[in-house]
Amino acid sequence: MGTSSTDAANGAANDEDSGGLSCATGLRCVICETRFLHQQLYNCPACGGILEVEYDYLRAGEPDAGRWQNLLLPIEPTRRVTLGEGRTALVAAPKLAEQLGATQLLLKCEFTNPTGSFKDRPISVGITKAIEFGRDTVIVASTGNAAASVAAYAARAGIRAVVLVPEDTSPEKVSQTLFYGAVVVRTCGTFSDCYAVALELAQRYGFVNMSTTFLNPYTVEGNKEIAFEIHCACDDAGALSAPVHALGGREPDEIFVPVGAGPMLVGIANGYRDLLRIGRCRSAPAMVAVQAEGCRPIAVAWESGAAEVREVPRPQTVARGIGDGLCGYAADGTHTLRAVRASRGYAVTVSDARILEAQRLLAESEGLFVEPTGAAGLAGAMNAAADGGLQGKTIVVILSGHGLKDRVELGAEPPLVDATAEAVLSAL
Ligand SMILES: [Zn+2]
Repeated sequence: MGTSSTDAANGAANDEDSGGLSCATGLRCVICETRFLHQQLYNCPACGGILEVEYDYLRAGEPDAGRWQNLLLPIEPTRRVTLGEGRTALVAAPKLAEQLGATQLLLKCEFTNPTGSFKDRPISVGITKAIEFGRDTVIVASTGNAAASVAAYAARAGIRAVVLVPEDTSPEKVSQTLFYGAVVVRTCGTFSDCYAVALELAQRYGFVNMSTTFLNPYTVEGNKEIAFEIHCACDDAGALSAPVHALGGREPDEIFVPVGAGPMLVGIANGYRDLLRIGRCRSAPAMVAVQAEGCRPIAVAWESGAAEVREVPRPQTVARGIGDGLCGYAADGTHTLRAVRASRGYAVTVSDARILEAQRLLAESEGLFVEPTGAAGLAGAMNAAADGGLQGKTIVVILSGHGLKDRVELGAEPPLVDATAEAVLSAL
């Protein structure tokens, strides 16, 4: 982490610095299992399938393998383009736990990352790889959080960022992205429309595509650190804070994740897959995909027992960060659905009203201000809690984005009175 981004951008970090820590051996297609050397590939050239990073688990699992978290990422830590992302708080919420009938509820505060959302983890890894491959321009299609993140990390690395956002993107996210100096263009239509343009421009001009679906195999890996941190919190009793201690070495039973295409959910599941493979934990949590009523392609497939996810042409939800209809890339949803099933998890659908209720509850009951998408995970837990569904369970809810990024108007302003004690008292 000590290497400056300028050094990384110039490729100045030498091999001595890097230490060759990463155990990532290359890329592998999840469908036809063809293997490829590390390179900026997107889908499998043989069959079009999603590519994943592979690791040498034997080396990563050696008893003397220190800093195992670094071994299980596809980058060398000293070359990482970083703004200090990660190591977010895992906050215990006993009042909410009691309300939901859960034994314990822990909130993973991803909205405290440098640009205010969990996207900083995947983008840090993706930009680091882009630099490693000698690229100078990245492009991203985003509903706003990845937009801001790509713009920030590109600025840090000294490369150009082209950012495409759909027309209904929150003005706060657009301003934030512009501020980092990125070229920002709003496109008519949905996120999927804007995604198709990014795909075409990346192909035509050789820009590195950072769109955070499953397109870029490197970005997904950054999400694994969420699993590593939850695991460490459970494992190292006393090393962190009180909520951690109470877990007594147990992994959580369920992790609730707001899901559009699902790379964060799959990233966390893959993090636990890696932990199991190197023998650091004995069980992995069930992954719960939370989707909004107006855009729930994965939840529909889960409920019907379908093998494949089908796209949603006109997504509509107050949680715009998960309003991804997967048009043209429904296979991404299928990939996430498989991860949910493999973890013995499930999908939950939440209404916009429930999402806003969860957002309010997090602020008023716990002092945590997140955007509607960021509250969707808790809304999912509230629905899952009906009929005692969370009885006896320890759950983690991911809070993905900051409340200032997509402000909901409350429809009421505080009173404005004369600056006297009497006037203020009369307004209380
Ligand atoms: Zn393939």
